[in-house]
Amino acid sequence: MDFAAIIFDCDGVLVDSEVLGLEASAAYLETHGFSWSPADLVRLFTGYRDDVFAAKLTEKYHSLHGCDPSPGFFEGLIETRRSRRHLLQPVPGAVEFSKNLGGMKAVASSSRKEFLVSKMQRTGIYDHFAPHVYSADLVSEGKPAPDIFLHTAEKLGVDPQGCLVIEDSVNGVKAGIAAGMTVWGFIGGGHCFEGHGDRLTSAGASLIVRDFDELGVRL
Ligand SMILES: [Mg+2]
Repeated sequence: MDFAAIIFDCDGVLVDSEVLGLEASAAYLETHGFSWSPADLVRLFTGYRDDVFAAKLTEKYHSLHGCDPSPGFFEGLIETRRSRRHLLQPVPGAVEFSKNLGGMKAVASSSRKEFLVSKMQRTGIYDHFAPHVYSADLVSEGKPAPDIFLHTAEKLGVDPQGCLVIEDSVNGVKAGIAAGMTVWGFIGGGHCFEGHGDRLTSAGASLIVRDFDELGVRL
């Protein structure tokens, strides 16, 4: 395979952040009347920038309770997730793979810049991509809009159509496709439950890879 650049999503591809706090978040949300499993949370909410996630959850809250959630509702959820952050690990194989991958490479994430850099530094991945680490707060629209991928291609100085995107979320796959890039679905994160690969394929991923070994072979 010959690509001008490879652009990685971060959460759920390079760092195993999506699985962290899923059970704690599900338990927290249950105290507010939502009966979602960790797999449901992945299906409903992964790959969104914070503001889009908050809007989606507010919508669900409104349909269930007939009113908007209090600010304390979101603070409690953020605190629940934050309490697990020290447990963050890289996705198995991600550090070695990033280190050894030659050519143009970048990270394009829905995460906010300070969180993104912190997560990548704590897992030993940041130095293998810097300075090409781009967060969704740099652009006006978060995934599934193509903005962050187009911004990344521009910074790399490559044609979007020559880029390969590695994504673990339906929204991320849609964003890469909308940017005119080739997108491969990655299901090596701890949050990828049964049927996840099929959902990525339906969103437009042309290939599904189950881990970094397989990604290396396919490249
Ligand atoms: Mg992701």
